[in-house]
Amino acid sequence: MPLIIITGLPTSGKTTRAKQLHAYLSERISTVPSSSSPDAPSVSAPPPKYRLHFISDTTQSIPRTVYDLSPSQLPAHVRSANASEKDARAAVYGAVKRVLSPRDIVVLDGLNYIKGWRYQLFCEAKNVRTASCVLQVGCAVERARGVNEARLERRRKRKEGKGELQGGGDGNGEERSGKDGEEERNDEEEEEEEEEPYEPSNWENLVFRYEEPNPMTRWDSPLFTLVWEDDEAQTRQVFDKIWDAIAGEGRKAVKPNQ
Ligand code: ADP
Ligand code: MG
Repeated sequence: MPLIIITGLPTSGKTTRAKQLHAYLSERISTVPSSSSPDAPSVSAPPPKYRLHFISDTTQSIPRTVYDLSPSQLPAHVRSANASEKDARAAVYGAVKRVLSPRDIVVLDGLNYIKGWRYQLFCEAKNVRTASCVLQVGCAVERARGVNEARLERRRKRKEGKGELQGGGDGNGEERSGKDGEEERNDEEEEEEEEEPYEPSNWENLVFRYEEPNPMTRWDSPLFTLVWEDDEAQTRQVFDKIWDAIAGEGRKAVKPNQ
């Protein structure tokens, strides 16, 4: 199942899970006995059976504004709201197409919220005789909104002149959760690593437009799910299942016309 499509609401924890999955897969790949690869050369250090790739809006330098449908929010050089999102999808599609193969596992981190888009990716996987699966990252809407609000607040403070105000405890409970793991960073690190927030209207609109994956459809299956609360053990179980579908006993042969 070399194309793994991550999907979920904005700021629901997709990148966090995608990175965990990437780390898990890279460890698994390094322990796959390479002799099981039919085309592995018989030298002492054959190449690993799989190569691993991580593709996201960030790796493709796609800003949050491409999803914003209100023209007032768009930077001057962007043609139009819908066109900019289409351009962004074309860039992601190109990046996936360049590397995807039965030997190349692609973790595609992103909203991936349009079912027609997920269908297109599924077809691309079929084209190169490999399979795809979907990992849905589940998170309560209020919590995801709180994460975005916390990021907006931190951005506002950074712009205002860095850290005069401490904490930002005027938010709701979700805001606290959104800061997990980020509080200890100093401002400088945050500036480099913090993902951009969405403008509130853009965020709300994306939630409204989100098309839930449906495991009854070919392009959304097999469908795996992780929710915010899932602990390490549960997460590992889900990753094991994904691995089994990709590379283990559960792997199905892909027929081009299926
Ligand atoms: P997305 O990629 O969907 O925008 P991120 O993965 O960037 O979301 O996560 C947003 C914030 O929420 C980050 O600060 C991250 O540390 C935190 N976070 C994400 N998932 C979890 C989780 N399962 N438990 C605790 N904090 C999380
Ligand atoms: Mg992300």
